[in-house]
Amino acid sequence: MSPRRLAAGNWKMNGDLAALTQIDALCDAFPDPGCDILICPPALLIHPVKGRIGAHPIALGGQDCHTRSSGAHTGDISAVQLKDVGADYVIVGHSERRADHGETDDDIAAKAAAAHEADLIAIICVGETEAQRDSGQTLEVIETQLAGSVPPGATALNTVIAYEPVWAIGSGRTPTKDQIAEVHGRIRAVLAQRIRDAADLRLLYGGSVKPSNAAEIFAIADVDGALVGGASLKADDFGAIIRAL
Ligand code: PGA
Repeated sequence: MSPRRLAAGNWKMNGDLAALTQIDALCDAFPDPGCDILICPPALLIHPVKGRIGAHPIALGGQDCHTRSSGAHTGDISAVQLKDVGADYVIVGHSERRADHGETDDDIAAKAAAAHEADLIAIICVGETEAQRDSGQTLEVIETQLAGSVPPGATALNTVIAYEPVWAIGSGRTPTKDQIAEVHGRIRAVLAQRIRDAADLRLLYGGSVKPSNAAEIFAIADVDGALVGGASLKADDFGAIIRAL
């Protein structure tokens, strides 16, 4: 049986209290969703969004966490704190964090381990740059990122992998179906060597997913959902993507 599919919205540094009407619209549109729905708003909004969702089965996640559970780390947020305000997931190793904050695979593995420790599901992001793809290094880059950033103890229950080609994020460009299938197939094969239930681990595609291309992407083998940036900000667009799942 294939794993329950996941539509994850990454709001990045967007949204405010007024944007919570988008959450109301999603709850109204999907009273009994046929897939898992996850919203990762800025951390400040997790608590108010949780209040808004009530008993609706939309899950919440952070966009990053620290490796420690508490302490003198000004400006940081721990996985334990995310869990405390109602999160069930956290994204780690997004390419924007890797680029803007110099995060390494080791950092990401430690963050994912902290997430597991706090009983959060870690969404670990991997993906090649355009230069790496052009020089034929895509699979090697993905394998290196997986080897370095997936911690021991990862299982299908506590980990999701998001394949997000850096050049596809926010650009309107997406890889071909064959390119996505090749990378997802390789991710599954690599994980199978170290995770017993890798067949059940959800692999998301991310990078310019929108209503017009979602169905085509979701039909590709080994794609178990999407990590959606820009198109998750509007309930209509995100709703169309959820329906395509
Ligand atoms: P995008 O972002 O959907 O806006 O391309 C995806 C992501 O960065 O997770």
